[in-house]
Amino acid sequence: MEKTIAVIRGDGIGPEIVNEAVNILDIIANLYGHTFHYVDVEMGGCAYDKYGDALPQEMLEKCLNSDSVLLGAVGGSKWNDLPAAKRPEKSLLKLRASMNVFSNNRPAKIWPQLASASPLKPEIVEKGIDFIIVRELTGGIYFGEHKTETVNGEKVSVDNMRYSESEIERIGRIGFETARKRNKKLCSVEKSNVLDCSQLWKAVMHRLAAEYPDVELSDMLVDNCAMQIVKNPAQFDVIVTENMFGDILSDEASMITGSIGMIPSSSLGSTSRGLYEPIHGSAPDIAGKNIANPIGTILSAAMMLRYSFDLAEEAACIENAVSAVLNQGYRTADIMDADGKLTGCKEMGSLIAKHLTKG
Ligand code: NAD
Repeated sequence: MEKTIAVIRGDGIGPEIVNEAVNILDIIANLYGHTFHYVDVEMGGCAYDKYGDALPQEMLEKCLNSDSVLLGAVGGSKWNDLPAAKRPEKSLLKLRASMNVFSNNRPAKIWPQLASASPLKPEIVEKGIDFIIVRELTGGIYFGEHKTETVNGEKVSVDNMRYSESEIERIGRIGFETARKRNKKLCSVEKSNVLDCSQLWKAVMHRLAAEYPDVELSDMLVDNCAMQIVKNPAQFDVIVTENMFGDILSDEASMITGSIGMIPSSSLGSTSRGLYEPIHGSAPDIAGKNIANPIGTILSAAMMLRYSFDLAEEAACIENAVSAVLNQGYRTADIMDADGKLTGCKEMGSLIAKHLTKG
């Protein structure tokens, strides 16, 4: 297979963690006979310093012309005083909008080796946590009309939630397709006992279910889901939900798994091209010190292989290598425990690279 990957190293720890992920992709390409071409994209504060624009058009084009995009992180206090429209974080929104990625997919997975980092009770963690939240990213209440006016002498605010059938259908399909590539269980989360948008959501999900007979669909109200994520997270495989519910539930889900440095994410649209990035930011406090955890970025590269390039075996090869290195007790500072062997960013990348073996 031959693919072109746009690589955005960005700011802070971005270059350190992305270099390790690219190294892993190179080894996978060698092992499995693929060719990955990398196109460097300057984006974020570094691009602002050079071009006066955090995402120049020419750089954006490189992303749009690639098969997928791997991103480290952008931003930092150096650029905090820029006008909002010029800030590096704005370039992220521009990239997501231009790539038309309407679904954000965040796995919540506990690595058994790091179980003690979870705030949940051991008897809950023991049953395993390994699910993914598919969140609608470009519709719903965040994108509806917002207004505040004075009525009868007091301020009244209104935020409008709106969903069309086609918006629900396209995210629903991503949910079903994601479940198909995992354990074939999809939980649709809504608030259909109160909201019209949720009733429509539920109806569309059930209509789609007929096209995916191999996937078991269930419904859950969002308030119950928030409880179930801490009470019995082992029951979930894939959760699909609207923008605001997904925003809240995916943060809750990332908390129960431990370190922010371990969690990858993907954003997908209607083509196979996706945007893959760890969920953390540019961590300026630890940048350039070789102490950042590269695993979230390395697992983002694995997600790219699985979800954009349909290379499930290669993705599993990376995930197994991460697991093997954790089994041996190697830990970056953020996941260090009493018996751990403290490991730098580069060393962690090299250890994972050494454990990549074709199954
Ligand atoms: P952050 O995620 O960068 O850091 C929060 C804490 O987690 C810090 O203590 C940091 O050292 C630690 N941390 C984060 N990633 C780590 C890793 N891989 N290994 C070890 N420790 C890690 O959040 P923040 O400090 O609020 O934001 C810093 C900058 O990043 C800001 O400019 C923010 O706007 C930006 N940001 C960018 C993105 C993105 O590019 N997608 C996302 C969030 C924040």
